[in-house]
Amino acid sequence: MRRKPEQTFADVQATIRNLSSLDMVTLATMYRIDRFDAEDTGGGGDGPKPKHSVSDPVGNRVVAKLSGRKTSDPVGSAAKEIETTVFQMRRQSEILVQQREFILNPRDRHRDNVIQHCEACLREVACTTNDRIRSGFCYQCYRAWLTQGKPNRVQFCLSIQANTETT
Ligand SMILES: [Zn+2]
Repeated sequence: MRRKPEQTFADVQATIRNLSSLDMVTLATMYRIDRFDAEDTGGGGDGPKPKHSVSDPVGNRVVAKLSGRKTSDPVGSAAKEIETTVFQMRRQSEILVQQREFILNPRDRHRDNVIQHCEACLREVACTTNDRIRSGFCYQCYRAWLTQGKPNRVQFCLSIQANTETT
């Protein structure tokens, strides 16, 4: 790891703080503003106006400045951006948890990195205490190989594969 644990932990804390500002009350309020303020734009009589274009000119400017572009519905776009970002962060954080498990759990790491196959029957071997690779073979093939007096490996593998294909 290139950064000190304290630095990454500070990032985690800041992320949690920022995210917790999006509590249920705030989200409900944002939803209401985005949904109903369109009807408050009122008056004018110049045909349909974009949502928020009249009701919140200051807010519009702030959001336009923040997002660095002009939009006919800045509040709506900001709300949509929040939704999308939170959704992506959820996915990303789930990947974080998987990576954490991968690093902390040696058995997971082993399973993910090295998917082993029996050289003879080509079966995927779980690499657990009950299902190990011995000399490149699964337990069953290894026993067969020993019973046959450790014959030439290539010949042995071909004979096993010929057997599994016919059965
Ligand atoms: Zn095998």
